[in-house]
Amino acid sequence: MKCNENYRKLQPNYLFSTVAKKVAEERQRHPNRPIYRLGVGDVTLPLCPAVIGALGRAVEEMAAAETFRGYGPEQGYDFLREGIRGHYAEFGVDLDREEIFVSDGANSDLGNILDLFSRENTALIPDPVYPVYLDTNIMDGRKILLLDGREENAFLPLPDPSLRADLVYLCSPGNPTGAVYTRPMLQEWVNWARAQGAVLLFDAAYESFVVGELPHSIYEVEGAKECAIEISSFSKTAGFTGMRCGYTVVPRALEREGMSLNRMWLRRQTTKFNGVSYVVQRGAAAVFTPEGRRQTGEATAFYRENAALIAAALRELGVWFTGGICSPYIWMACPAGMGSWEFFDLLLREAGVAGVPGAGFGKNGEGFFRLTGFGGREETLQAVGALRALYRARGWAGQT
Ligand code: PLP
Repeated sequence: MKCNENYRKLQPNYLFSTVAKKVAEERQRHPNRPIYRLGVGDVTLPLCPAVIGALGRAVEEMAAAETFRGYGPEQGYDFLREGIRGHYAEFGVDLDREEIFVSDGANSDLGNILDLFSRENTALIPDPVYPVYLDTNIMDGRKILLLDGREENAFLPLPDPSLRADLVYLCSPGNPTGAVYTRPMLQEWVNWARAQGAVLLFDAAYESFVVGELPHSIYEVEGAKECAIEISSFSKTAGFTGMRCGYTVVPRALEREGMSLNRMWLRRQTTKFNGVSYVVQRGAAAVFTPEGRRQTGEATAFYRENAALIAAALRELGVWFTGGICSPYIWMACPAGMGSWEFFDLLLREAGVAGVPGAGFGKNGEGFFRLTGFGGREETLQAVGALRALYRARGWAGQT
């Protein structure tokens, strides 16, 4: 018996456990001093009433023989896929129901989609990045190229014609950076991918935070259906992190080597996945009802307003950052040339604010720091006040 040796190449992921340990130690040192958690990457508001109502009704249906449901349709119930189709139509994207696959969340599909691609392919992954892209490719033993996100490109790297890769990960709005690709930028990626025969894996987990003209979906760009798979989720859109529901779009037009990626994904899912529960899919479909839209929209707006409060303070202090507008994330430069863990320790100790050190998201994350709008309003306001006071006391305002 031989194990998958690639697992030896994975870096231990201590980011969130180290953050939690340091916060716990600080709390022990000063039990009466508040700690404001601005590092949370999970939602904190409960499910909205429209979703709760739909879940309750679906549970009742499961209690009666006439309405009980067993295994569901292969790609998800029509009522949910129609809701998703309608959602895409709102930003001008016309999807066929057969192109939508309901999943138990973006994470599983981000890993599972790699079943469709040879391990001899090269994956191009932005740095800094949501660590799952990197680790799933390491597990498969695929060659990895890192694409530099930096202050100079506002953490939105673009392709140059000499770039060679088979699979490319794009996340917009990004985690950890909160940065959002514009339509012309996505068009550059699509043009490049079509010229190369590469496939883009577009992570749209935060699309519901987008307001204004920026794109929600890669398919808003011409030619994307021939080169892109989109993976999305109800986690941040509707507070489903604990419910587990998402979806992946594999266009019919997406073919490589005479194979339809849509048919391959169907085959893969029907072999290795048995669908999301009826109850959860009913809950997810309620997100697209008028009340569901309004209520989930209010929750997203609340997180976005928290992020905007942090962003406004950073702007006032002259701190360089990305995100904070169409995203729950704010990605800020650490002050005075500090390393990201050094700044984490100082911010926690002196201001009682807990964020996430950028170094945990890749080598280019060093010197940067992630804050989020997922906290409560009062906590966010207190944290912003403490941050302002620290920057003023240290003379950092206007210096980064
Ligand atoms: N993609 C990104 C960029 C994320 O930040 C997250 C969760 O934080 C996910 C995917 C995972 O989403 P899900 O809860 O649907 O698995």
